[in-house]
Amino acid sequence: MGHYCRVCGRVRPNEKFSGKGHKDHVCKECSGMPREKREAIEQEDEIFGYLKQSHISTKNVSRLRTLVQSDNKRIAELAGLVLEVAEVKPYKKRRLKVLAQKRRDLLRKLKETGLIYAHHF
Ligand SMILES: [Zn+2]
Repeated sequence: MGHYCRVCGRVRPNEKFSGKGHKDHVCKECSGMPREKREAIEQEDEIFGYLKQSHISTKNVSRLRTLVQSDNKRIAELAGLVLEVAEVKPYKKRRLKVLAQKRRDLLRKLKETGLIYAHHF
């Protein structure tokens, strides 16, 4: 049995984790990454996660408002798109249908960035 790394998403053997890494669920390889790079991977996962949820909560929205200010362009862009989605349709049910009716531009951007896959997850 291995252990799951939340940064690279792989299940890796126990020897690939340090004591602290075990607790944090980050393998040795990923913990050696520059902090900004690791954070960006985690934040991207987080943003995709919001679209997988059945509802984007007000707490999620305030978190997205922080992420939108990221120095990382992709993170800022993704967070901005999910924020817009939350404004139009916070609930996942019928979201794509509503977006197709009201916000075709936003729907197109979800496709371009790959965020649409999180919706179908
Ligand atoms: Zn890893």
